[in-house]
Amino acid sequence: MTHPYNKNIYPGKIFHWMNDSETESATKQYFQKYYPGNGDLLAEVTRGDKNDINQAIELAKEAYKKWSQTPVVKRSEIIREAVLLMREKKQELAEIVALECGKSKKHALGEVDAAIECGFFFAGEGRRYFGEVLTSAVPNRHVEIIRQSIGVGALITPFNNPAAGVAWKLFPALVCGNAVIIKSHEDTPYVAIWYAKIFKEAGLPAGVISVLQGLGDEVGAPLVSDERVKFVSFTGSVTTGQKILKATAERLAKVSIEAGGKNPFVVCDDADIEKAVSLAVQSAFVDAGQRCAAASRIIIFNEVYDDFKKKFLEKVYTLKAGTSDEDDYGAIINGKRTNQILEAVRKAVKNGAKNLVDADNENFIIDEKYHGGYFLNPVVLENVFVDDEISQNEIFGPVVNLYRVKNLEEAIRLANRSKFKLSSAIHTKNIDRAQEFIERYEGGVVRVNGPTHGSEPHMPFGGTGLSGNGWREPGTKALDFYSDWKQVSIDYDPEKI
Ligand code: NAD
Repeated sequence: MTHPYNKNIYPGKIFHWMNDSETESATKQYFQKYYPGNGDLLAEVTRGDKNDINQAIELAKEAYKKWSQTPVVKRSEIIREAVLLMREKKQELAEIVALECGKSKKHALGEVDAAIECGFFFAGEGRRYFGEVLTSAVPNRHVEIIRQSIGVGALITPFNNPAAGVAWKLFPALVCGNAVIIKSHEDTPYVAIWYAKIFKEAGLPAGVISVLQGLGDEVGAPLVSDERVKFVSFTGSVTTGQKILKATAERLAKVSIEAGGKNPFVVCDDADIEKAVSLAVQSAFVDAGQRCAAASRIIIFNEVYDDFKKKFLEKVYTLKAGTSDEDDYGAIINGKRTNQILEAVRKAVKNGAKNLVDADNENFIIDEKYHGGYFLNPVVLENVFVDDEISQNEIFGPVVNLYRVKNLEEAIRLANRSKFKLSSAIHTKNIDRAQEFIERYEGGVVRVNGPTHGSEPHMPFGGTGLSGNGWREPGTKALDFYSDWKQVSIDYDPEKI
């Protein structure tokens, strides 16, 4: 299927962003970005190296001196200007997101709207950049804590939801007075460049944002290892997160890791089954399951298991993958990941899992309309053991497991069985059950009678265990990551007045 992509919006060559302009790497090498909707070459992307990193860091260090001294209200005014421009040009950004991710324009627009709201939220924070006044046991001592900027930071984002991914990090980092280097994802290289251009138009000084293109090993790893980089905000796979923690351990850099999920969706016997079915389908297959908050483990009480399963499958059969606004979800980001998902499903089936939707286990949509695109049919698995790889590892695709449990106790134990502890949902009409689950689920998000995804820009989001190391984005809690608290005490002497 050919996507009507606009060459004026999406360039054939993508560069770094340095010193307010698009810059080719001195390596003169390129890697390829393909359109997930049909496998066509979308762009050649400049392939950065250590020299580019050095240049970006020096620019950021210089720009940081002035930017960190710019009053926070002024900084937030520039953010507001940028967000107003984003709103004006949101169709353009949505087109870029749709192209890079192989999703529909409608879904891309939803993401862009959320990114814009995130921007407005942090623009407002400039006038609410409060410290705190504390008490003291010492007479005539005034004590307060104030926020201070940190310095040059690396922002590393995943490929899914690239517009929101950049927004969650960039806006709070800038309002807090830092200079940043965004390491673009290989699969979504242009979104960050688009942001940088918008910020230039909004009046952000050169060097406060740089964008580097390149591979994880060649650009991501040396960037986070550089001691001039004072903080790293990373969202992506847990494996990369662990590498970053190791690379930054010696210098104790401030590091936020937001990693994957294996999110449980619990359906009790008193749940509103129609609603639970509808939200479970949405939670499992949103963005083809390429969401950290996607539900991948549906845990159902025995009494309603068969009814739920029947209705769930009926709805799943109606799902359509594709890139039009009528489709339910889009493509898998690239061929390699598509094969990894299929491999994981095949292995699970080999280990005894039952694929309820596609008994032959051939999940590529081979309809001519989609020829060449990385589209997968939904996969619903039954008979999986709780410690199987398919139960424990994040698949990041349209794959969901169904589990049968006796009661709430078993449901909670199963929900907590994964090392990933990010989001969750419980469906029940019983407030006591809901409260018990809220207290005992060990992850960072619980939704009662809702989907597992759908956080809003002012809500702190994040997990524990392998899902994250405790920081929260976005919302006001994000300011605690992008600024450091400084304790100030002032001793005064009334005798000397
Ligand atoms: P990934 O770890 O493969 O890549 C993320 C980025 O890290 C890329 O830009 C990559 O080039 C870079 N990178 C690779 N190696 C690096 C290294 N050694 N040092 C520094 N950077 C390096 O992640 P992905 O697969 O693209 O993203 C999907 C993952 O992100 C999923 O696990 C998903 O659950 C997670 N995610 C989490 C959240 C959250 O808020 N918790 C949100 C969205 C996605």
